[in-house]
Amino acid sequence: MTESPDRRRPDTLGELSRAVHAGNRRVGGAIRTPIVMANAYELPDDPTTVNWSGTDIPLYTRNSGINQLGLQTKLAALEHTEDAVVLASGVAALHAVFFSTLSSGDHAIVTDIGYVALRRQLETLLPEKYGIEASFVDTSDPKAVEAAIRPNTKLIHTETIANPTTRVADVAALAEVAHRHGALLSVDSTFTPPGLFRPAEHGADFVVHSLTKYINGHGDALGGAVLGSSERLAPIRADAMVDVGGVISPFNAWLITRGSVTLPLRLRQHVASAHAIAEFLAGDPRVARVDYPDLSSHPQHGIAARQFPHGSGGMLAFAVNGDPDTQNRFVSHLRLITSAVSLGHDESLIVQVSRDEPHVVNFPEVFQTHGILRLSVGLEDTDDLISDLSAALDATF
Ligand SMILES: *Cc1c(COP(=O)(O)O)cnc(C)c1O
Repeated sequence: MTESPDRRRPDTLGELSRAVHAGNRRVGGAIRTPIVMANAYELPDDPTTVNWSGTDIPLYTRNSGINQLGLQTKLAALEHTEDAVVLASGVAALHAVFFSTLSSGDHAIVTDIGYVALRRQLETLLPEKYGIEASFVDTSDPKAVEAAIRPNTKLIHTETIANPTTRVADVAALAEVAHRHGALLSVDSTFTPPGLFRPAEHGADFVVHSLTKYINGHGDALGGAVLGSSERLAPIRADAMVDVGGVISPFNAWLITRGSVTLPLRLRQHVASAHAIAEFLAGDPRVARVDYPDLSSHPQHGIAARQFPHGSGGMLAFAVNGDPDTQNRFVSHLRLITSAVSLGHDESLIVQVSRDEPHVVNFPEVFQTHGILRLSVGLEDTDDLISDLSAALDATF
């Protein structure tokens, strides 16, 4: 198959154009990159110069492939980073950062509210198997993070907006603390994909995404990515992809590439609806608490307004009056909004987050006592979503 040269220069284009064109490799004259379900690529006539562990040319699909390379180019263009590595899932991407940057005896400072597998990786797996130490800290408080620094602290890891409570971290302030103490900053920006925020422009050394969520956006594939400079990503690519094998399938890379074309457009609708729904819930006396960073009542509203000038996304946390069983009863009355895990899809999803996880003690008081509903506002009509929530409130109370 012949590949035509890309005459477009994505780095000179605006965000919508980048999302459409970046990384689209025209193979065999097709205007869209085909799905290349091959696990190996033909070697040159003289293979003596080939680097068998290289990742820059398609060789073996665990090193690289047409669809992975295309997705990496698109993501780096959207996130404005030099490079990107795509992997099988968001947790594979998190693990790749920790495994490559931390060695036995090193210490990491990690957000004390975050994706649950993150906690298991850094509280149990990496400490027990590799002798890595981690402290769980409120990363919305840069002073608390600085106080937790030790001489062997190599990495600070936060989420831009924490899953599930929506607590917001000040990325520039954390980067300043990390770099002043010789540590690196890794930022999981899954809740704030490019179009809303670009952590690398605020000093993050690694940007992590679960591509499963907004970037794919259609709820039909798993994927993860780490973005940053080529120098920082080279060991991650070599370790996590080539030697550990957390590679994404060509088909999932193709699906996510296709989904990401509409990311900037989808985000506008997610933000508009989430804002309207947050205001609706905040105005209803049957709702005990609503956390959405664009509401002035949010504890980190000041940082959010500065950091996310285009809005803080489509995720909100809330609880209706009553106990955890009441939250479940409320959810059971929803008809349009689906009760399921995952987030960032075209379809609105809601889940009462597990109360058995260690980070629950760090949640705001109301969420500890009532339970917490995590709502991922989808792309349905805003009025339909508000009607569904309103009818479920009426049916519950
Ligand atoms: C879902 C999620 C992950 C994990 O991603 P998977 O693709 O499910 O492995 C990591 N971080 C955040 C913030 C998430 O929401």
